[in-house]
Amino acid sequence: MNQSKQKQPITSLWDDAKAASMSEPELLLYRSNLLGSDLRITNFGGGNTSAKVMMEDPLSGEQVEVLWVKGSGGDLGSIKLDGFSTLYMDKLRALKQRYRGLEHEDEMVAYLPHCTFNLNPRAASIDTPLHAYIARKHVDHMHPDSVIAIAACANSKALTQKIFEGELGWLPWQRPGYDLGLKLEELSSSQPQLKGIILEGHGLFTWGDTAKSCYETTLAMIQRAEEWLAANVKQPVFGGAAVTPLPAPDRAALAAKLMPLLRGKISKSEFKLGHFDDSEAVLEFVCSQDLKPLAALGTSCPDHFLRTKIRPYVIDFDPTKPDFDALAASLDAGLEQYRNDYVAYYERCKRANSPAVRDANPIIYLIPGVGMLSFAKDKATARIAGEFYVNAINVMRGANGVDSYVGLPEQEAFDIEYWLLEEAKLQRMPKPKSLAGRIAVVTGGAGGIGQAVARQLLAEGACVLLTDIDAEALDEAKSVLAKVAGKDNVASIAGNITSEEQVEAVFTESALRFGGVDLLISNAGIASSAPLEATTLEIWERNQDILVKGYFLASRAAFRMMKTQQLGGSMVFVASKNGLVASAGASAYCTAKAAEIHLARCVALEGAPLGIRVNVVNPDAVIRGSRIWDGKWKQERAQSNKIDADDVEEFYRERSMLKRSVLPEDIAEAVYFLSSDKAAKSTGNVLNVDAGNAAAFTR
Ligand code: NAD
Repeated sequence: MNQSKQKQPITSLWDDAKAASMSEPELLLYRSNLLGSDLRITNFGGGNTSAKVMMEDPLSGEQVEVLWVKGSGGDLGSIKLDGFSTLYMDKLRALKQRYRGLEHEDEMVAYLPHCTFNLNPRAASIDTPLHAYIARKHVDHMHPDSVIAIAACANSKALTQKIFEGELGWLPWQRPGYDLGLKLEELSSSQPQLKGIILEGHGLFTWGDTAKSCYETTLAMIQRAEEWLAANVKQPVFGGAAVTPLPAPDRAALAAKLMPLLRGKISKSEFKLGHFDDSEAVLEFVCSQDLKPLAALGTSCPDHFLRTKIRPYVIDFDPTKPDFDALAASLDAGLEQYRNDYVAYYERCKRANSPAVRDANPIIYLIPGVGMLSFAKDKATARIAGEFYVNAINVMRGANGVDSYVGLPEQEAFDIEYWLLEEAKLQRMPKPKSLAGRIAVVTGGAGGIGQAVARQLLAEGACVLLTDIDAEALDEAKSVLAKVAGKDNVASIAGNITSEEQVEAVFTESALRFGGVDLLISNAGIASSAPLEATTLEIWERNQDILVKGYFLASRAAFRMMKTQQLGGSMVFVASKNGLVASAGASAYCTAKAAEIHLARCVALEGAPLGIRVNVVNPDAVIRGSRIWDGKWKQERAQSNKIDADDVEEFYRERSMLKRSVLPEDIAEAVYFLSSDKAAKSTGNVLNVDAGNAAAFTR
């Protein structure tokens, strides 16, 4: 939200023709999706919508009034009908008799399931009373940066009156809950001319008699706030620039160097993933005169600080004299100070029944001249926390540009952060998966085994960076995996594993994209066969380059980053049965695979003191899915075994002791086991996945 730039107006996307055939619940869904599709209207996961609809009661067959309101969790942009909870309005009204006053308001939440209409399993959110008691059919509650900017001004009441000329009412800050619902009812009924209400330090409520009029009122109020701010925000914002940003490549290089270091220091109790943002809005703030005083004020909207913690950590860095070593040296003391401050805040504000203090590490890191880092337990949460801090920056820009910005009083912020109802939500979250928070680099990620491994690691909660020399196949693999595991969790970078520079780039990308590396699956490979006399130097060197030099370069780069993080790590080399069993007519391949296995053992030795484990999986005859077997290798193996190419799979199956085909998923299972904590006490090991081959028995 750069006020100095011309912005696209927020215009109605309502399509009467589309809406004509929709039922009331469908109109609510349509409106919600339209609202949620524009981040200027509401932040991700923020805001909720409702409609009061007459429906047939499944019990009595009579028409009853039902509140459809966005349920707990989810995002308006992608919500479906099953994301709404449905509640009997007469029961919600009857609840008022149960209300015992502000200090007991939390107990009202437990009554909400008793109001459920039609056995709808979607849990009602704690914002339900904010919608139920406003005496209008359609209600939107949004968190637009422009309106929150006005709501977070010291003079927000007077500004609301001035900007909205009596069309919007105003309520002082109050934690969302049952009592606020009653206050909204009181104000909306006593002043029927109002089109909505601004909640101090929080957001916007708007309403209407039809879905369309409600939607258009919401847009009109946000647009009015944006226009007013654009015309009135003092320039330059944030007190003007204090420093100039570093050039983009230097910003990225510094972030990539810093992220593994920082991640190591904040991941001792739980693995964290990182996100880097050096967008224009972020740079304007982190390079400004007012950075430190504004950051210290903390965020205002509850949605913001629940994701970002009340304050960011401003890292000591002078971009005019960039000194990474000095920055790195300042981190321990800076983090300790932040954690001590956080614990002191907890101690000052805690109540008798408050949940235990949570992880005291910062979530948001601001670096003058460079940008913003955010860290959280998974990639999407880290990215979204960063986006929320951008919302907070926008709010501070607007509020400070027209008045003075106020954060939320500390005790209020604490009461939300450690609200028992929020704690209950956290307790309901599913248990983290076995690789949650881990970052894996998979080389040869476009190939059969690489993709199967990536799929399994993703399913177990890891983030995966795929790399491969075949850029086209890599893109395809990434998009297939992103569909299954979500875009946040999969990244790719093309490169040749034999190039020192390109391997470095892979790990820089892993740091920048996710924060570092925990697992290396060294798997990129080829196969070749030729009798010794026909083995050209070119064939020999190609095997050595890809299978030995490539594995060396990848493991060295991973080792260095793991050492920086000080979080241990795990490497799995996908070698081959041929690394243990000499095979006639494939000396270049067999020798290179044997070297891989020995390299793994050497790295295991040096890695052990650092908690870095290194193990080997030896596949044999993985024909389905493997691109090696698509090519010449299959013909050569068929010829050398004097069989038809179509019979290769059966031939190898019959050759195995267990008479079973080995599939990429079988290799993936072994790789997963060795990379996970299930194998925490194994290093320097070799696991054959070959359906049984006596010659390959290890000894
Ligand atoms: P695959 O061909 O499907 O996958 C290998 C991937 O490595 C390919 O996508 C390829 O583009 C990539 N690659 C090749 N050279 C590269 C380079 N210089 N830089 C970066 N990427 C490069 O084969 P796969 O069967 O999935 O093989 C994976 C690993 O398993 C290999 O190391 C292979 O030697 C080993 N292996 C496979 C079998 C089998 O029967 N399939 C048996 C034993 C060992």
